[in-house]
Amino acid sequence: RIVYVNGDYLPEEEAKVSVFDRGFLMADAVYEVTSVLDGKLLDFEGHAARLARSLSELDMQAPVGHEELLEIHRELVKRNDLVDGMIYLQVTRGNPGDRDFVFPDPETTRPTLVLFTQSKPGMADAPMSKTGAKIISIEDIRWGRRDIKTVQLLYPSMGKMAAKKAGCDDAWLIEDGFVTEGTSNNAYIVKGGRIITRDLSHDILHGITRAAVLRFAREAQMEVVERPFTIAEAKEADEAFTTSASAFVMPVVEIDGVTLGDGKPGPIAKRLREIYLEESRKTAT
Ligand code: PLP
Repeated sequence: RIVYVNGDYLPEEEAKVSVFDRGFLMADAVYEVTSVLDGKLLDFEGHAARLARSLSELDMQAPVGHEELLEIHRELVKRNDLVDGMIYLQVTRGNPGDRDFVFPDPETTRPTLVLFTQSKPGMADAPMSKTGAKIISIEDIRWGRRDIKTVQLLYPSMGKMAAKKAGCDDAWLIEDGFVTEGTSNNAYIVKGGRIITRDLSHDILHGITRAAVLRFAREAQMEVVERPFTIAEAKEADEAFTTSASAFVMPVVEIDGVTLGDGKPGPIAKRLREIYLEESRKTAT
């Protein structure tokens, strides 16, 4: 696999970052994951815009301009013959040559930029999208700026492990009884034909897939309500689902052992997955 590191395309064995890099020492880094279907990027513009926002919220410099970023994505797809899969991108505040809590001077410490590909053949037909996901709920104890896509992923990772241990697929995070989001996705319920998902704030990541799916839902005359919902309300919903760049629209069929509807992916989740894949392929670049 060919990996991009600070201007170079290298075999992955040769791609290296310093032990003093603040991404490694302090999780002082942000990331993006962009899906690739049939060799084309899904919603590159959305991911680039969110990256710019994450960087600006943390007073971090952009390592390259917009056009160059697109060029790097395309070049990696080409060099790795990527058909279906994703591109992972990470920007760190760089390597100041020492460990210090104080941010280094951006004049002397340049950000680190790393991108690599992950092949996921047939990702549009993932088996779980046919059966639906089983989820558990756990307390949301993450920091208060979840709208910034940082690499602080230890707690979400522990959440996924807790789900696996319970024989489930993923976890939803709960704050004051309300669902914030999934470990790596946005959360939705459907009740009486109405799609309900938490409104945007610092409490959740502003999903690129969320924005697209809500737009498609409204265009298809589905009713969308953006408001917090409780985990109790979710267990009484007709259906539920999650969205993310890497899993698209994923039906949820069980929450904390409670079966939703008939235990199969719901019609609205299935329809939205179809629409999302169809429309995203059309605008893929
Ligand atoms: N929420 C969290 C916490 C995430 O980590 C992710 C994706 O990684 C999402 C939501 C979904 O965002 P997107 O649709 O941009 O992938």
